[in-house]
Amino acid sequence: MNPAAFTIGVDLGGTNLRIGAYTRTDGLLETIQLATRLRDGREAVAYDMCGAIRRLADRYRQEMVLAGIGIGSPGPLELPSGILRQPPNLPGWDGFELRATVEGALGLPIVLQNDANAAALAECILGRGKSLGVDSLCILTLGTGVGGGIILHGKIWDGMSGMGGEVGHLNIWTEGGMACGCGNRGCLEPHASATGVRKSAEEMIASGTASGLAALYARNPAFDARDVAELAGAGDAGAQAIFEKVGRSLGIGLASIANTLNLPLYVLGGGLANAWSLFSPALFEELRKRSYVYRLNSGKTHVVTAELGPDAGLLGACLLPFHYPPA
Ligand SMILES: [Zn+2]
Repeated sequence: MNPAAFTIGVDLGGTNLRIGAYTRTDGLLETIQLATRLRDGREAVAYDMCGAIRRLADRYRQEMVLAGIGIGSPGPLELPSGILRQPPNLPGWDGFELRATVEGALGLPIVLQNDANAAALAECILGRGKSLGVDSLCILTLGTGVGGGIILHGKIWDGMSGMGGEVGHLNIWTEGGMACGCGNRGCLEPHASATGVRKSAEEMIASGTASGLAALYARNPAFDARDVAELAGAGDAGAQAIFEKVGRSLGIGLASIANTLNLPLYVLGGGLANAWSLFSPALFEELRKRSYVYRLNSGKTHVVTAELGPDAGLLGACLLPFHYPPA
């Protein structure tokens, strides 16, 4: 690879649009952050994206070769066509031809991936995969939803049409499962996301059995998962029970992934992963109980929090052209 090559990566989110220029030797050279103008429509967002890409391309092309442009997009995303399918974080974007729109505007090929797959690639190449010396992993991003990505021997496993690795929709509860945005009940996502923590807290408050959570609601009706974690950390039994269920849900989900793929590394990212000390005991209890593959490989299997933080998606988008060179 030419050392004087740079890429441009785009992290397309429902709130922020981030565009970065990147080299393998120096990492992110510059990042442009814009608000995602969802209200102005998808064409407006694509216009902003292409404008920022052009700005970075023009600036760094004076010294280096542009090796490619990578975009991480919320899913469901159909590949290789690059058409979005009812993405919950981008309302009104169903059927949007993201690839054709951006390539048409720029006159350049792009490397497009689901954002969680891009984050998984970054964590593998630059984060935990690198520090632990392994080239396969599964990442679970515990945020508003539960994103998932799988890397097998350094390559993204995105399935037949780009929709593989959606471990947030593993079916983990057959009874009493919460409703999921995908239309199913009992998926991992509503049980292990920040949204799910808030919802569980609301249910406990409504049942009248959780005085600590009720007091939290009285103080701050807009409380979020972080507030519930703080309450749990202070010893509140109701809040602790919520995170124990989060841990059990993750443990059940990870047991299925471990039994299927026997991976060396499982990475938990996203804001809710900060509550690791609250949910990890229940996670490991379930994982050990339910996965003989994990038990037999317990010394060699790592279940850890992510190393890269909020830049993982953008870094992954920047890495895409290096690992999947545009035709
Ligand atoms: Zn689901």
